[in-house]
Amino acid sequence: MILLKALRIIKNVMLNRCPRCKQGKVWRVNAIKAFIDKNPMNKHCPNCNLKYERELGFWQGAMLMSYLISVLVFILCWIIAIRFIPKEAPVIYTFFLVAGAILLVSPFSWRWSRLFWLNFFTDEYSK
Ligand SMILES: [Zn+2]
Repeated sequence: MILLKALRIIKNVMLNRCPRCKQGKVWRVNAIKAFIDKNPMNKHCPNCNLKYERELGFWQGAMLMSYLISVLVFILCWIIAIRFIPKEAPVIYTFFLVAGAILLVSPFSWRWSRLFWLNFFTDEYSK
């Protein structure tokens, strides 16, 4: 049951779908355009009219998800650095690897963190 729910959440996040109807899009534009668009997210689901921002400050919790994604990227880069960067190499190489990876992932991290947060607190029975 929990595994099925986790798979459903991952599917909704990857497909950018509403957690209730699984049809409407949460983000109007892709991850790169979201930085320059004034209003990159829909306020309500275009299909079932679910209000995405449930209460004032709802998206603050998504910052925790974004932080967790960044930590995962950091750990992955650290493992790659230990494995592939020679020990004699300056530490700045590892710094640039981690900083570059986090910068590259940040547009997707913002998007995925909000989608994960929305899916954690909304399901097909939500009003
Ligand atoms: Zn919907």
